Amino acid sequence: MATIQRRQTSNVSIGKTIVGSCHPIVVQSMTNTDTADVMATVNQCAALARAGSEWVRITVNVDESARAVPEIRRRLDDLGVDAPLIGDFHYNGHLLLARYQECARALAKYRINPGNVGVGKKHDENFKTMIEVAREQDRPVRIGVNWGSLDQSLLTQLMDENARRAEPRDAREVTLEALVESALRSAEMAESYGLAHDKIILSAKVSGVQDLIDVYRRLAGRCDCPLHLGLTEAGMGAKGIVASTAAMSVLLQEGIGDTIRVSLTPAPQGDRTEEVHVAQQILQSLGIRSFSPQVTACPGCGRTTSTFFQELADRIQTYLREQMPVWREKYSGVEELRVAVMGCVVNGPGESKHAHIGISLPGSGEEPKAPVYVDGKLFVTLKGETIAQDFNRILNQYVESHFGVHAANLQGR
Ligand code: SF4
Repeated sequence: MATIQRRQTSNVSIGKTIVGSCHPIVVQSMTNTDTADVMATVNQCAALARAGSEWVRITVNVDESARAVPEIRRRLDDLGVDAPLIGDFHYNGHLLLARYQECARALAKYRINPGNVGVGKKHDENFKTMIEVAREQDRPVRIGVNWGSLDQSLLTQLMDENARRAEPRDAREVTLEALVESALRSAEMAESYGLAHDKIILSAKVSGVQDLIDVYRRLAGRCDCPLHLGLTEAGMGAKGIVASTAAMSVLLQEGIGDTIRVSLTPAPQGDRTEEVHVAQQILQSLGIRSFSPQVTACPGCGRTTSTFFQELADRIQTYLREQMPVWREKYSGVEELRVAVMGCVVNGPGESKHAHIGISLPGSGEEPKAPVYVDGKLFVTLKGETIAQDFNRILNQYVESHFGVHAANLQGR
């Protein structure tokens, strides 16, 4: 694992997890079902949790949703899914949390957006009500400021102050400052209402990569609360993945960020769990946490005219991912496994030797044989129609012998 100096923070406990400082960075996700639809929400929460989401956030926006939350929790428990549920509140959170105590108890954390709790005196009263429920239920909160719903009275105040300066700063500067101030002032206010310091996580999400980096650096420098990272409204497909990765990688590399979420817009009928896989992949690619075995595959070029190696790489990647729910329990440390699937002799043997187990397939014009390397040494050379099956068998044997009970006993694990 990479040695990244993490920022020192207070530690916040949620369920069995501790977040902050040197504790593992937590992967979060959010459902897009109607929370009042219990079965749809249970199924999606379970899918997200099984994909590796350690906390799952759900919208709690109306009475029907608040009433559904305890049932969702019960059914997830019955399914053996213990991922904590986080309630996402806007506008009426003070009413719902006060009115539905069972809902407040079933949730492990409340997300409060200070820009969406009312204005003026109402803002303070509503915010106080939510903090009081958090205190009574002994729950942490995330004060989640968002660029799209920034506290307008605070922004106006800072803009007015800026206008009176001898050398006013530009509007972007003031807006980023307002985001940070909104988070910090809300945290202070929560503590003034009696919430313990170690019950507060902060976030300040924006949709631009440079803005996100800028705002989180400021926030990290001015408080010791754990920070939840995420590029809001990241977008669809490659754009959303790349923008989220670009922004979060810079911050994570600087030790900033204690929980993360990748806010991808799924394609219609798309798989919501993609955001979990991307979040895990960001952390694993940076060498911060390992979640599943990694497959190194070459991009292919004119030296290989067949798509066989691409298909094999895809098959192995899918196979590894499908096995992980079982392997995680059975094979301690298997998430560190590195597999290489290469297209020809140019980089094939070299890259295969760097992996725990690698195969170098024949490129165009090469002899139709595929050397397999295990722990850096030539293990066997495969030929014929059954290369894929034979390689899978060697892979399974490797996992059993290196991560199974027998291996654990030998290593005293
Ligand atoms: S390993 Fe061979 S096939 Fe793959 S990209 Fe390199 S030269 Fe091309």
